[in-house]
Amino acid sequence: DTIGGNLERTVATHGDREALVEVQSGRRWTYAEFNADVDAFALGLLARGIAKGDRIGIWSPNCAEWTIAQYATAKVGAILVNVNPAYRTHELSYAINQSGMRMLITASVFKTSDYAAMVDEVRPECGHLETVIHIGGDDWAELVAAGERHDRDALRNRMSELSTDDPINIQYTSGTTGYPKGATLSHHNILNNGFFVTDTIEFTERDRLCIPVPFYHCFGMVMGNLGCTTHGATMVIPAPAFDPAATLQAVQDEQCTALYGVPTMFIAEVNHPDFASYDLSTLRTGIMAGSPCPVEVMKRCMTDMHMEQVSIAYGMTETSPVSMQTRPDDDVERRTATVGRVHPHVEVKIIDPVSGLTVERGASGEFCTRGYSVMLGYWPLHDDEGAAKTRGAIDDARWMHTGDLAEMRDDGYAQIVGRIKDMVIRGGENLYPREIEEFLYTHPDITDVQVVGVPDEKYGEELCAWVQLRAGASSLDAEALAAFCEGRLARHKVPRYVLTVDQFPMTVTGKVRKVQMRKESLERLG
Ligand code: ATP
Ligand code: MG
Repeated sequence: DTIGGNLERTVATHGDREALVEVQSGRRWTYAEFNADVDAFALGLLARGIAKGDRIGIWSPNCAEWTIAQYATAKVGAILVNVNPAYRTHELSYAINQSGMRMLITASVFKTSDYAAMVDEVRPECGHLETVIHIGGDDWAELVAAGERHDRDALRNRMSELSTDDPINIQYTSGTTGYPKGATLSHHNILNNGFFVTDTIEFTERDRLCIPVPFYHCFGMVMGNLGCTTHGATMVIPAPAFDPAATLQAVQDEQCTALYGVPTMFIAEVNHPDFASYDLSTLRTGIMAGSPCPVEVMKRCMTDMHMEQVSIAYGMTETSPVSMQTRPDDDVERRTATVGRVHPHVEVKIIDPVSGLTVERGASGEFCTRGYSVMLGYWPLHDDEGAAKTRGAIDDARWMHTGDLAEMRDDGYAQIVGRIKDMVIRGGENLYPREIEEFLYTHPDITDVQVVGVPDEKYGEELCAWVQLRAGASSLDAEALAAFCEGRLARHKVPRYVLTVDQFPMTVTGKVRKVQMRKESLERLG
């Protein structure tokens, strides 16, 4: 089915149930009302001449209109381009030009971010961009009014021309290992993944999901919105951007049964000073994804937050996103040590990155996945640049090479070891920075640490530790670090170099950019 067709099927059975709640404004929509607003906006897009395959960008913090635009663009067969609301003019202009965007839907002002002013600033550099629509602005209302004067059958006709394999979405990756890449996804990709993600946590139309994760990322728009609309469940938007108190308040007031977040969000929630004053007893499940979750936090989510069935998911933008997920009856060990087992209708294998052969169970190698969830390719799909990037990630047999190192256990549950690009090969030996970092964290003066490889004539590569020190700690050199490691960490894993810094280079989604650190290590070491 297409995303629009699937929404209408949900409306037919659950039309009177609540579809969407925007807590901040108190606005609410039943499925019938939501679908009517989606149609009104979609007709407006048709009235403005939006053709199948046109790129329409969206650049805004979470709000109801984000969701309405998501479904309206899908109904007219336009390709929605998700732009990170943390982006500023440089990245915005890249996204507009790289995607060939015709229309941009944007917020007006949010907190200190004047989106409208930033759009005005980049418009001279963006020749393709014809129209800007402001959420809550007169131009939004004018577009809807134009739709009211348009031929009502036009939307039905357009929907009948769409194919489930049409591209529907360009989502940019986080840019952890380089420039963000635009993953091009179809109805088939994300509609199915949204369905299976919440099916795994046993969603029904009675579930009410609190979504504090951003819609621009697959966690919000696929696992959140599509996860709800495929089951007739309710989408609850607690706030435009993550706020622990607003999230807890929304769970209580809206009687949510499920809650999403990256581990750091759950940490902020359980440690909030007013945590104990919220009644969270309606919660039953949720999803935690993006990075590993500390055991203590997982336990508190399961007890103090009542999320006995909370699920861990692993995935990437290029695979719609989820390919591994824990199940409701898994124990705490599986929920913390692993990222779950394989999703329905998806294949996975772990290979030796050099030989390409599947490794033995328990050995580490590159995680590869194949199935309906693998993206169409990197944008632009049909030019040399995009095609070359796609060939670098998806092989001839359609396996997506994730670039993540994993191990498959005998019980079919996988563990993520790190990223291949972060692996260091020293004297022919593979070293995994995460293992070394976890040991160095135990040093009393180190508050944060990252380990990267730097070129070395003798060993090929040597380890360099970037450390952030506790305020007032005396400096830490390589010799002192070696003394700390002596007898506790194998000699070849002890970093040869130490760099003390105040901050690591980070992506806008809060991931550490190790590729950048490798380059900078050389300069800094001289
Ligand atoms: P880029 O591809 O631009 O370098 P990115 O890979 O960080 O950036 P995303 O698609 O947002 O962009 O993130 C996917 C990556 O996040 C995965 O490849 C994996 O490294 C990491 N990841 C996702 N879920 C988990 C998890 N549950 N545990 C550990 N790592 C995870
Ligand atoms: Mg990636």
